[in-house]
Amino acid sequence: EDLEAEIKDEEYFFSLDELTERERRDLEHKRILRDLAQDYKKAGAREQEERKNRYYMPEEKRRKVSFGAAEGEVSSPGFSLKRFLNAEQDVPERDLELEEIPMELGGEQGRWEEERLKTASLSFGAKKEREQGMREEQERYQLILEEEEMIEFVTTAITMKGTRSEKVSPRFLLNPDQEAHALSQAELKKQSMQEVRRSLPIFPYREDLLAAINEHQVLVIEGETGSGKTTQIPQYLMEEGYTNGGMKIGCTQPRRVAAMSVAARVAEEIGVKLGNEVGYSIRFEDCTSERTVLKYMTDGMLLREFLTEPDLASYSVILIDEAHERTLHTDILFGLIKDIARFRPDLKVLVASATLDTERFSSFFDDAPVFRIPGRRFPVDIFYTKAPEADYLDACVVSVLQIHVTQPPGDILVFLTGQEEIEACCELLQERCRRLGSKIAELLVLPIYANLPSDMQAKIFTPTPPGARKVVVATNIAETSLTIDGIIYVIDPGFCKQKSYNARTGMESLIVTPCSRASANQRAGRAGRVAAGKCFRLYTAWAFKHEMEETTVPEIQRTNLGNVVLLLKSLGINDLIHFDFMDPPPHETLVLALEQLYALGALNHLGELTKLGRRMAELPVDPMLSKMILASEQYKCSEEVLTIAAMLSVNNSIFYRPKDKVVHADNARMNFVVPGGDHLVLLNVYTQWVESGFSTQWCYENFIQFRSMRRARDVRDQLEGHKTPPTPNTHIHTKSLLSLTAGYFYHTARLSKGGYKTVKHQQTVYTHPNSSLFEEQPRWLIYHELVFTTKEFMRQVIEIESAWLLEVAPHYYKSKE
Ligand code: ADP
Ligand code: MG
Repeated sequence: EDLEAEIKDEEYFFSLDELTERERRDLEHKRILRDLAQDYKKAGAREQEERKNRYYMPEEKRRKVSFGAAEGEVSSPGFSLKRFLNAEQDVPERDLELEEIPMELGGEQGRWEEERLKTASLSFGAKKEREQGMREEQERYQLILEEEEMIEFVTTAITMKGTRSEKVSPRFLLNPDQEAHALSQAELKKQSMQEVRRSLPIFPYREDLLAAINEHQVLVIEGETGSGKTTQIPQYLMEEGYTNGGMKIGCTQPRRVAAMSVAARVAEEIGVKLGNEVGYSIRFEDCTSERTVLKYMTDGMLLREFLTEPDLASYSVILIDEAHERTLHTDILFGLIKDIARFRPDLKVLVASATLDTERFSSFFDDAPVFRIPGRRFPVDIFYTKAPEADYLDACVVSVLQIHVTQPPGDILVFLTGQEEIEACCELLQERCRRLGSKIAELLVLPIYANLPSDMQAKIFTPTPPGARKVVVATNIAETSLTIDGIIYVIDPGFCKQKSYNARTGMESLIVTPCSRASANQRAGRAGRVAAGKCFRLYTAWAFKHEMEETTVPEIQRTNLGNVVLLLKSLGINDLIHFDFMDPPPHETLVLALEQLYALGALNHLGELTKLGRRMAELPVDPMLSKMILASEQYKCSEEVLTIAAMLSVNNSIFYRPKDKVVHADNARMNFVVPGGDHLVLLNVYTQWVESGFSTQWCYENFIQFRSMRRARDVRDQLEGHKTPPTPNTHIHTKSLLSLTAGYFYHTARLSKGGYKTVKHQQTVYTHPNSSLFEEQPRWLIYHELVFTTKEFMRQVIEIESAWLLEVAPHYYKSKE
């Protein structure tokens, strides 16, 4: 209303020509603000109306307490949307200019924006102090790290609103040593675990939640990351008797690490051995038993359970967790579970999600009620770099050290895209710390990514010792799936690794791309769980607004569907076009999947499942890999091909290449090279390892990662269960290569004048420099996967003869040649 008045005044008193450029922009800006405010008012009213018609939502309670600025929030000096947009022209105070960026915070957006509009009129109170503070930081930093360029960040106004202002509860104290002495470790642990359970945001709503579940078959549950959805809800249900009579509660996770780690945590909270009452099941690893009633599993594993138990009769509750991730498997589960819920009225279906998209889940499940667990978040200040960072890995390292020497206690969380990057970052950090020695406080550097062995994974959860600081370098896993207590600082380079699929060419590749704004906001949110936090974005505010997508595209729309189409066909679902997809995949993608399955021999010309197709579906791997394994029976080289399949599944973590022994490691690797290509090199490594008696020492001497090998052996054992008995070895390598071709004939590349091109679509691709065939350049290649980094690289390649293509895939290649 104030704005409205101001605008009127200005319009009344000045004609537009009389205004200076700047004033005119101000006026324009005010108008934008006014419109925004009006929109939100309207939206707010609508929301209220809708809410009345809905089931009870704890959200309403929160509304009362959470209004008004939370304690410790930075007020907004100089709110300037316009200036932000024209940052280049408004030079004077750019350093300290606090830029305002619209943030999308799901359901909280309305209130957040309102809040922001209120504070918008406050102005530059804190500028002087800030300048002073920054100078001091800089000096302190340079005193310690002379050679480093400090990264200059600019801050926004209040960026993420906190939802609570009360004091930090004792367990969040940053120096736990104060009270730690009185009790023994074990006692302390047990006590603190129960204390933690009771202190979680979900705890006060236990009864309401159970009542809601009792009353409704399908319930959507929304709650901030860390509120206790994953670990607590299944326990409440157990306590309430949902597992009586041996009925199971299933809880799905999109990521294997999350399934494992959460199961371990819950087993510990309940006080049972992991694998007994509480277990987990992920691909190639089943940690459950007859006694297991609470089962955490990947969404893919639950999908597979449909093959053996199409009505999930042994489950009383299915909790589809992390629904907002919208992985391919989760999306397919939605359709299947919605379907079986109709004829299994006793089955409870819970869909849990971070504060994103819940309305969509609700409407998909025939307007199921939404249960909101009030969040608990402290405000997070968001900083952007002034200019784009050329090397974000290096920028991460610098930022971590920068925080470490200039900022008060609190742990740091860094988001990177994958294992290689994470390892590189950790190494760099450790090296820097070693060099700085006692000049800086202790910095514990801990990685977390999917392939990390579980004992290492557990480390990220151990409390930081007093005086030290922990930095966790993670993939997206830490965005919402895992909650690490004690994080105050988040460093977000703004990238993630994404699958992308070209439905025209059928090419799938992993690409490092900018993450979505929704992701970035989830990441930032991780800084505000235990106290007011800071998020350092290694990109500019401009990039946030203009170069990032609003939300991540659901995986179903950017991936090869071969796998799920085969699975659905095996479940007797033939009409895929009319399957109940939450977001249907592109038509071409479906068609292409059918075509590929036909070419592989899994479907007949009527699109029906063949015998081979059924066997392929039973193998827990992608269609091409399963075809390759099954083809090896025919070529009588199953032993070898199974090994290759197992080694491929632990891909890229076999060879160990420490920085200080690069030459040794590379020599060791060269010793494994055999003619034919990378797959045969992998086979060679495995065979030699077997000959060494699965020796750790052998691995160590040959720069091979023992853990990966052990995992490959487990995978191999699992796959072996599906095959027919072995036969004698003759020309085994050629035969293995033939089997590989039978599965992967889609992935053929041919050398022509300009280099390698894929056969079907003439796309230019390159051999990965790590490949044993990097220099050889055979005419025909088959690759295992494409990875796009600087170029479109083929990773794991073998040499083949073109005649084999005709032999293994006549219908596919005849037309072409
Ligand atoms: P949500 O699913 O709502 O994101 P969780 O149930 O995963 O929340 O986590 C609730 C709390 O449980 C976390 O804040 C953390 O304190 C604790 N927690 C969860 N997993 C672990 C773990 N592996 N180790 C230690 N604490 C954990
Ligand atoms: Mg969770």
